[in-house]
Amino acid sequence: MTAATLYIIATPIGNLEDITYRAVRILGEVDLIAAEDTRHSLKLLNHFGISKPLTSYFDHNQQLKGERILHALRQGKSVALISDAGTPCISDPGYQLVRDAVAAGIAVVPLPGACAAITALSASGLPTDAFTFAGFPPSRQGKRRTFLSGMSTLPGTLILYEAPHRLVDTLSDIREMLGERQVIVARELTKIFEECIRGTVSEVIAAVSQGTVRGEVVLLIAPGAAVLHVSEPLEIVLERLMSDGTLSVKDAAKQAAVISGVSRSEAYSEALRLKIRTDGA
Ligand code: SAM
Repeated sequence: MTAATLYIIATPIGNLEDITYRAVRILGEVDLIAAEDTRHSLKLLNHFGISKPLTSYFDHNQQLKGERILHALRQGKSVALISDAGTPCISDPGYQLVRDAVAAGIAVVPLPGACAAITALSASGLPTDAFTFAGFPPSRQGKRRTFLSGMSTLPGTLILYEAPHRLVDTLSDIREMLGERQVIVARELTKIFEECIRGTVSEVIAAVSQGTVRGEVVLLIAPGAAVLHVSEPLEIVLERLMSDGTLSVKDAAKQAAVISGVSRSEAYSEALRLKIRTDGA
């Protein structure tokens, strides 16, 4: 272990066996552990027989605590940053501290380990060659829809964190803004009630609406047809969507607009033209 070093240490997201030997060793060697919630982290540290000075570092005391931690580092102390679960800085506090430590010329050493997003992706069966992790969507519907619409043409799998009580609303907005994609709700990963609920957005909404969703949830969304058929002309996309007659002109236009990246009105006019042509044939 090196002095004057900030260690960014991943901790388990449920199953305590998912900590690394190196994480346990470094946590036992540093001068100070900065934790999101000291009471929560004490349980983890006690479990591994680690007894070290602890300080809190969370969203609302970041500036003050960050300065104190940097002061300790400048004095040659070694500090470990941990969060309540998983990898610090990933939808968790830490980014500013790392940024300031780097700017101050302090060594920053990451210790890899659990991260709910990557754990869920690895078992998803969705494309892993390209993916976007976008953290928690906004809680208000308007902002959430805008946020989702900005993701409609991104290549690869989309990974979100979501609170269980917002899951159905967010899934409904995904259906509205991104269309009927394949999604996976990865719940309680590494814990007793771990499960992956897979299907189209509508199927997953139906499945999760049957009871109360509890615990922690990662939401994965398959890449959209917009990405897969990006070079297809609007007319072809509409013909495909309208071929079996199950979608109304309006719904087909809505989906085609997302897929082709055109406005809804343009897609609607084209859908109407095709409908008139087909009906007249
Ligand atoms: N830093 C953490 C990481 O590396 O994954 C994430 C912290 S963020 C505050 C907490 C969110 O991560 C939860 O609301 C949930 O979306 C996701 N999460 C954490 N643990 C999980 C688990 N065991 N199963 C499913 N999702 C989990």
